Amino acid sequence: MTDAELREQCCAANLAIRRAGLLLLTWGNVSVCDRDRGVFAIKPSGMPYDELAPHNMVLVDLATDRALGGGWRPSSDTPTHGVLYRAFGGVGAIVHTHSKCATAWAQAGRDLPCFGTTHADYFYGAIPCTAGLTDDEINSGEGYEHNTGQAIVREFQRRALDPLGVPAVLVRGHAPFVWGCDAASATEHAMVLEAVAEMGLDTLALAPEAVPISAALLDKHFQRKHGARAYYGQPRA
Ligand SMILES: [Zn+2]
Repeated sequence: MTDAELREQCCAANLAIRRAGLLLLTWGNVSVCDRDRGVFAIKPSGMPYDELAPHNMVLVDLATDRALGGGWRPSSDTPTHGVLYRAFGGVGAIVHTHSKCATAWAQAGRDLPCFGTTHADYFYGAIPCTAGLTDDEINSGEGYEHNTGQAIVREFQRRALDPLGVPAVLVRGHAPFVWGCDAASATEHAMVLEAVAEMGLDTLALAPEAVPISAALLDKHFQRKHGARAYYGQPRA
């Protein structure tokens, strides 16, 4: 991708998550990565969505999280995005929102269980909630946002989760980060996460004793859309 294409895709994805109702004010950011060139584009820090345009997306060095060139400062969450790109191969775009229902699960410090096939079509099991950051992680070291990324990576390692099988996380006391192989899949996953987070709240309101779907039903739904034996949708040319 050229710089212009990267900025264009990043701006379009930021506007798409706002159109989808996942954002209030400036609470969120999307980045899009070009691994071949070792660069990602991200929303500028604190800029109102009405002012976003491709030319003010910030290009960042994938190795260092430093902005390339002058201009706007990148989102303050840039180091979190950088840690996730470097740890999770195959991720091409990352979406951070404070969408209401997913954030409620993060604030409750609870994994979002896979209560139904809507969830299983996109996420291979529960969406994990991280451990809380320690005071040291919040106040010192390489920085709060970097340590937020490390907390996510640690949680995936501890649970031996495939980040492409479960492309979302709930950061305890904060909000979700969601990703995908490209901007379209990351934004779709962010929308689906919010929908299944809302369904999960309603499920527990109706039936506090509700349990996750069976492993067989989870496998059936996830595998028919993903992996070697996928058969959902139309064959690829
Ligand atoms: Zn946030």
